[in-house]
This record gives sequence, structure tokens and C-alpha cells, in this order.
Amino acid sequence: MTGISRRAMLASVTSAAFLPTTVPANAAAPLAGKQAPAFYRYKIGDFELTALLDGVRRTKLTASPSRNTPLEAIQAELEKSFLPRDEIFFYFHPALVNTGKKLILIDTGNGPNSIASGTGQLPANLQAAGVDAAAIDTVIISHFHGDHISGLRNADGSLAYPNAEIMVPQAEWNYWMDEGNMSRAADGSPAMNTHRNIRRIFADIAGKLTKYDSGGGKEIQPGIMPIDTSGHTPGHTSFIISSGKDKVCYQADVTSGFAQLYVVNPGWHPGGDMDAAKGEETRRRFYDMLAAERMLVSGYHFTFPSLNYIEKTASGYRLAAAPWNPAL
Ligand SMILES: [Zn+2]
Repeated sequence: MTGISRRAMLASVTSAAFLPTTVPANAAAPLAGKQAPAFYRYKIGDFELTALLDGVRRTKLTASPSRNTPLEAIQAELEKSFLPRDEIFFYFHPALVNTGKKLILIDTGNGPNSIASGTGQLPANLQAAGVDAAAIDTVIISHFHGDHISGLRNADGSLAYPNAEIMVPQAEWNYWMDEGNMSRAADGSPAMNTHRNIRRIFADIAGKLTKYDSGGGKEIQPGIMPIDTSGHTPGHTSFIISSGKDKVCYQADVTSGFAQLYVVNPGWHPGGDMDAAKGEETRRRFYDMLAAERMLVSGYHFTFPSLNYIEKTASGYRLAAAPWNPAL
């Protein structure tokens, strides 16, 4: 009781007695029942980047997602990473680059038809981040799989980014728009569905697209350099975004849908890679470069918010998550 006078004690007891009795001591708050809007900002030099979640698709793992690795090995790897053995989580997150002069969106998510499966959230998260879709100047597409292009259209078919120049890889365009390639895809196959979806998205704007050279070594927008990372698809492209001395690499699908498995085991061939051998060659060359340069990498399918460094290990690579930054 030393240091507290009898008078002070009496005063505090007295004031406690006059607290309003209408405030409950243990207020029950309703559970939110859903996640908060998901976007994450960071700086690269003078550029401000925002990783925007399009959602997460959960898929039961009943067969191996890899062409050359048995399901048991996949499940053992998942277990090692404290993940469920029987389910895979596919994250999707496009990137927004504000260069100070232009707003550039890279990839567009799964689009409005996918909302039931937990994706298609990009427009809502963009809005939550305070960005008007009509203010986007440029949309850059990495490749033509549906989870990257379907968000170019609203549910009514109108353009989701009505004022944007849309830039697509020339090699990707050449492959997918070739009627011969389409005719060789079996009816109902994923390849045929991709061909059809590409035509749905691009048919009436084909003449307005800007086609870029992925391997030309030239920036396609100020500070945005494409890198040919083909293998996943014939024109698959990643980007190095740089401002001043800072750089981040946007890797799109170098490790396909479930990224972690194929970073740790680059020799495992994702089922989604169209050319498995080229995909592996690309993966090793690409991660060797990122590890050597200690470059930050944003993976479209990495766990949100997707920013990691790459460390080379004896058997492959390891993702080291970049620390969450509290201020810009
Ligand atoms: Zn993808």
C-alpha cells in the first residue's frame, strides 16, 4: 500500500462507483465471417506498387498436379510446409504499378464468372484500395490463361478498364490466335477452353491491342522490362519493374499454379506447363538470376502478398518472405 494515500484510494473507489451502468463489461461483437479487403502497398524507387488479391481457389488434391512427380511426394512436401495434404490453395494476385505518371495493371484475374469459386475479387479490392478502374492507363498481360485475362471483361461483356491501352505478348498472340493450333485441341479439353476464352476476350478489340516483344530487351513502359519466360505457355512473359536502384520481378506463372512446390523442386513439372522441359529450363535460369541479384520477386500465385526473395539451396530454391512494411 506504500505510495497510495487513503484519500486517493477512496477517490478511485468513489469514481468507480459512478461509472455508467449501461456499458456492459463483456460486449459481444458479431463475428465478421469474412476476410478484410486484401491489397498491399510497397515502394520500388519512386514507383508505388500494390499487390491486389483476386482471391484464393481451394481444390481437393485427388491426383498429382505434376507431370513427373507422384501424389505421395507432393503430399509429403505439403506436410513439410505445414499445409494440408489433401487440398491445394491457389492464390491469384495482379499487380498495380503507379509510376507517378501512369497507372499500370499487370494481369486481370479470373473475372466475374469465377466469383462463386472464391476468385474474381480484383474489382472489389481495387476499389477498396481507392483506385478507379477507369483511371487505369495501361493493362499488361503476361500470358493468355483465363486466370490472367478473364478480368478484362465485366459480367455484361464491357471492358473492365475502359480507358486502358491493352498490351499482350506477340508470341502468345501468334500461338493462340492460330486457327491450326485451335483445330488440333480436342473438344472440351482445357486447351480448347483456353482458345475459346481468348477469342471471347479479344475478338472485338483485336485491332486495338498493342503487341509487345517479350525477348527484345526493350522496356514496354517506362521502368517495365519484359523477360521471355516461355515454357508455361509459348509467349509467357515476366517483368522486371525498376525505378532508380530498386527492382522487383513480377514472375507470373514461372512456377505455375501452386508456386511453392516448384520453387523448392524446380525439376518437378507442373501440369499447367505446356512445354515441361522448357518450363524447367526457364525456372532454373530465372531463379538463378533472381538469387544471384538478390532481387525481390512478386509471384502471381505465391501466398499473398506475394513478395519474396529467392535463395539457392542444394536441391532447388527457397522462398524467403520479405518483411511486411508498415509505412511507405
Ligand atoms: Zn496463372
